[in-house]
Amino acid sequence: MIDFELSDGDKTLVNEAREQALIARNYARYYDKHEDEVPPRELPEAQGRPDPFAQRLLMDGEISGKAVVEALLHMEFFRGDVVPLRIPRISLGNYVLESVGSPEQIEKWGKSRIAIGITEPGAGSDPSRITTSAIYDQAADEWIINGEKIFITFAEDADAVIVFTKLKNKEGRSSYTTFLVEKGTPGFSVGPQVKKMGIRAEDTANLIFQDCRVPGFNHVKADFKAVFEVFNFSRPIVAAFGLGTSRALLDFTLEKLAEVGITPDYRSSIGTQSAITERLLRLEAEYEAAWLAVMRAKWLEDRKGRVKVEASMAKAMGGMAARKITQECLELLGPVSLTEADLAEKWFRDARISDIYEGPGEVQRLLIARHLLGYSQEELR
Ligand SMILES: Cc1cc2nc3c(=O)[nH]c(=O)nc-3n(C[C@H](O)[C@H](O)[C@H](O)COP(=O)(O)OP(=O)(O)OC[C@H]3O[C@@H](n4cnc5c(N)ncnc54)[C@H](O)[C@@H]3O)c2cc1C
Repeated sequence: MIDFELSDGDKTLVNEAREQALIARNYARYYDKHEDEVPPRELPEAQGRPDPFAQRLLMDGEISGKAVVEALLHMEFFRGDVVPLRIPRISLGNYVLESVGSPEQIEKWGKSRIAIGITEPGAGSDPSRITTSAIYDQAADEWIINGEKIFITFAEDADAVIVFTKLKNKEGRSSYTTFLVEKGTPGFSVGPQVKKMGIRAEDTANLIFQDCRVPGFNHVKADFKAVFEVFNFSRPIVAAFGLGTSRALLDFTLEKLAEVGITPDYRSSIGTQSAITERLLRLEAEYEAAWLAVMRAKWLEDRKGRVKVEASMAKAMGGMAARKITQECLELLGPVSLTEADLAEKWFRDARISDIYEGPGEVQRLLIARHLLGYSQEELR
């Protein structure tokens, strides 16, 4: 039997996350307005409150699955703001380190916050176009890195970055690999905070590598496949971010419309609804379809390990649902929603990113189509 009920354990964690999200919401406008200020890793109200992400790891058997609950928690936290009471300790670079790092490398950096630097001015959706290079200096057992990475999350706050580079062999053939570069390494600098339309609270900046030398030990040998395998875990999570923000705006819209006597009747058929309530029901359906796609990807992950196509499906559906729901909610709310009196216009701006980073919708649909139709990357681009 298919059962979508949350267990008691799930509910405990989700309720705690929802309470924390509502507290974090009090900071939402402040960090939206103070884009140059990187939020603290913990807001004062986190003191004495449990960390639901950590708790879930100790609740085997009581919860519906670690991956499922992680996605549910992200959805709850994003109902509050981009900045939760406690920013998760690890970032995407940590997952790369965990999957391919040597025991000595994991021992050294496992507790650091590690950003991931892939995107460059000429290489976003197609990362094979990167130009950041690494050259080995055998005499010194050091690698020399040159290049620029743009739009890097946690650029300022992270302790280190896993940087994705291109190597050229003697015959001129290219291959890809990664290096861990710690903050403070000569030749490595972080640019100013990028001014963004939405998620302004998120620490985002460019990274510059100018003859940056790192010891041979810092060669974390993740090839192209190993780096992008991490996205099979994170793409449904990015969809969850967008759905959390959408839920916040959808709930706000329902509340505002209820104040003027407009409430959808969820039990009657769509043909008997007013134009407005019919629209709301369609948005709810869009939300639920995307929610289920995220749950499916994470449910499969709990049972089989990371999945690729279902992760892309969740990302494509979540990103599109977030864009559509937030756009239509603003239309339903009318011009007042464009003022800063409430968070509606901010949620609209924040939701947009879930259909951009870690591969926009167009790219997810390409990945899905290649898989379903059996085309290679060369055949379907
Ligand atoms: C706030 C923020 C944080 C980020 N954090 C990180 C980070 O931590 N690390 C990191 O490495 N990167 C990060 N990025 C970069 C992000 O992953 C890229 O922006 C994203 O992959 C898209 O690349 P692009 O911006 O170069 O767009 P492009 O690849 O230039 O795409 C532009 C448009 O063209 C479309 N398009 C591209 N190719 C195709 C195609 N083949 N078919 C159809 N349409 C296509 C895209 O869907 C998109 O709509 C971040 C970006 C932002 C905005």
